[in-house]
Amino acid sequence: MLSKRQFLQAAGITVAGRLAAPAAEPSDAKRKVILVTFGGGVRYAETFTKEGLRNIPRLAELQPRGHFFRDCRNLGVLSHFNSTGSLVTGQWQRVDDFGFQPPASPTIFEAFRQQRKAGLAEAWAICTNKSFSNIGSSAGPGANVVLPKQLLLEAVKDIVARGDGLGVADRTNVQRRLETILQEGYEGVGWTIFKGGRQIDRKVRETLTHALVEYIHGPEAPTSGDELTFFIAREVMREFAPPLTLVNFWDMDVAHWGSYSLYLQAVTRTDRLVGMLWDEVCSNPNYKDRTTMLVLPELGRDGDINAANGFLNHRSGDASCRNMWMLALGAGVDRGETERPVAHIDVAATAAKLLGVKFEAAGQALREIV
Ligand SMILES: [Zn+2]
Repeated sequence: MLSKRQFLQAAGITVAGRLAAPAAEPSDAKRKVILVTFGGGVRYAETFTKEGLRNIPRLAELQPRGHFFRDCRNLGVLSHFNSTGSLVTGQWQRVDDFGFQPPASPTIFEAFRQQRKAGLAEAWAICTNKSFSNIGSSAGPGANVVLPKQLLLEAVKDIVARGDGLGVADRTNVQRRLETILQEGYEGVGWTIFKGGRQIDRKVRETLTHALVEYIHGPEAPTSGDELTFFIAREVMREFAPPLTLVNFWDMDVAHWGSYSLYLQAVTRTDRLVGMLWDEVCSNPNYKDRTTMLVLPELGRDGDINAANGFLNHRSGDASCRNMWMLALGAGVDRGETERPVAHIDVAATAAKLLGVKFEAAGQALREIV
C-alpha cells in the first residue's frame, strides 16, 4: 500500500498543479515535529469517553480538526521513563524505571541530529518529570534536555544574585511561592536524579533563565510544573524554533497522592496547556503550516478499583493502563479517525519519516500521517 506521501507524489505527477491539498505537505527540510506526552498517566475514562470529554475541552475541540487514533497501545514497561523512552526510540524500553540509565537504543533525536547535521539547539526535550535527564540520547549527541524545575532553581538564584531590586525584596516570597513546584515528585523522585542531569549549554541556560525571571515576576507566574514546562517550551520555540521537540507534561501523576479531584484538575490543566501549545504553533510563523504535533498519554492508570486501587497507580498492566489514544494535528495530517490498533513504538518511526530521517524502529510509520 502506498503511504500518503507516496500517493501524493504519484498523484502530483499525473495531475501536476491541480492537486487540491487541504493538508499541505511541507518539505522534509522545513517540517517540524512536536511530540507531546499528555503525561503523567491518564485513563481513557477521564479523556475521550462521553463522560471524560468535559475534562478536556480543548482536545475535544481539536479532535475533529486532526487525525484521531482510537486504539494506541503501550505494550511496554509501565513506568514513565520507559514508556516515554519507547516513544522516542521506537523500541520497547526496559531500563531503570527512574531514569538512572539512558534508553537502550538510539533515540529519534540522535538519528535526526546525525543525519541532518543538526546542532544542539535543533532537538529538544522539555520535561516536567525530574528524572528525565537521560531521555534525549542513548549514547551520541541527542536532544537538549531541559528540566524546567532545574532552571527555576537557577532563576531563583539569579533573582537573589542580581540585587537590583527586581527580586531581592520579595525573594523569600518568590521562593515560598515556587516551593511546591520545586518539591513536586509524585513517585518520590528526588533531587539526586534531578541534579545528575546533563548540563545544558551556558548561553541557552542564560537565555531561558532570563525569560524565567521575568515570568516569575509577571502576572502569569507558574503554579505547577507543567505550566513551567509550557512556558519554557514556548520560549524554546520562539528563541530557537527547533524542528524536533518533545514536551513532557507530568502533573496528572499527582493521582498517586490519592485525590481524584486533584487528578481531574491536572487533566484539565494539561488539556489547556496542550491547547496553548497548539495556539503557539498556529501563530508562530516558524511553525505555522509546517508542524505536525502528536499528542498522546505515555501511559494510562489502573482501571478496577478493587483490583489495584483504581486511578492511583499504573502498575496493574490492565487495558486501562495500556490502551490509549493519539491525536495528530497539523501539517500533512488529514482529518479522520483510525480504529485499527497502533502502538507507541510507531511514534518515533512516524516522526522519523516526517523529518526525512532513516531510523530503525520496531514500530511502523503511521500511513495515515506520513
Ligand atoms: Zn506515576
